[in-house]
Amino acid sequence: MVKRSHNHMRKKLRRQATIIVSLGLVIVVSLFVLVGVLIFQLVSNRVDSTRQSNEHTSAQGQSSETNQELTTAVSQTGPIISESTLSIETSSDSDGPVQTSEMDTVQPPENLMPTLPAIIDGPDLNGYLVVIDPGHQMYPDSKQEPLSPTMSGSKDRVSAGTKGVSTQRPEYEVNLEIALLLKVYLEELGCEVYLTRTENDVNISNIERAEFAESYSPDAYLRLHCNGSMDSSVTGISVFVADFGKHKSSLCGWADTLGQSIAQTTGSNYIGCRASSLYSGLNWATDIPSFLLEMGYMTNKKEDELLSDPAYQLKICAGIADFVATMPKNAAR
Ligand SMILES: [Zn+2]
Repeated sequence: MVKRSHNHMRKKLRRQATIIVSLGLVIVVSLFVLVGVLIFQLVSNRVDSTRQSNEHTSAQGQSSETNQELTTAVSQTGPIISESTLSIETSSDSDGPVQTSEMDTVQPPENLMPTLPAIIDGPDLNGYLVVIDPGHQMYPDSKQEPLSPTMSGSKDRVSAGTKGVSTQRPEYEVNLEIALLLKVYLEELGCEVYLTRTENDVNISNIERAEFAESYSPDAYLRLHCNGSMDSSVTGISVFVADFGKHKSSLCGWADTLGQSIAQTTGSNYIGCRASSLYSGLNWATDIPSFLLEMGYMTNKKEDELLSDPAYQLKICAGIADFVATMPKNAAR
């Protein structure tokens, strides 16, 4: 009896031991799973917080741009091109740090290019070469670069542009949209076209853009911009050129043809040409015919909406095409 009860006890103890070991294993496995889950959450939280801080930095960049836009708007006045109007583009005449060598390879992928209506009516531009600079970029760059090869002073590499009073679109975005359309438009007429940028999130300074343009010896270097004013009734097209350099005596005559051609195709008014030494992007491109074209005012509700209207954009392109056909071909090419 005693032996059997011992056996019984031993079996009972063995069973209890088995249960305890099994429970222990379950607990250990559960702990492993728990620790794994905790580590995963920790890692993903860290990734999220990094992402949020990046977004915050971007948002700060945008708010400082808005401030600059405000300054830009304050510095502008009426429809007559005056020194105060000039200061708009003085502050918005810079860009950021992409290397020139990098820019040489930048051409837009075909799927990003806008499509044209079936028939384009315009002059034969075979043999012409144009470089287009869509003004500004997503984030301004206040680092300085020399204003001119012949004068002292410096300017922001890239400043903020203006903003649409109705569309709320930033100028850099509208400039690029029209530039891409203009590239396709001019190419359709036989022209060879190069862009200084094909994306908004770049950092290319005005001097780098100018050097890029000069490297092609184009028949025209067109810097596309939109204007802004404190007076919301102001509308119209204006053109800025350098006040020195190889083409000094011809620049405003060519600029008038450019402005008047666009006024003719769009129905907008041409304000005039202004020669100035305040634009680094023009001062560093005086070996070629360089023009800073203000296509219209984004501070005027109607003109702001027109500048984003595909039909109106085509009319701007048509005017520019007419102008290119009047330019002498660059003998240096
Ligand atoms: Zn601008």
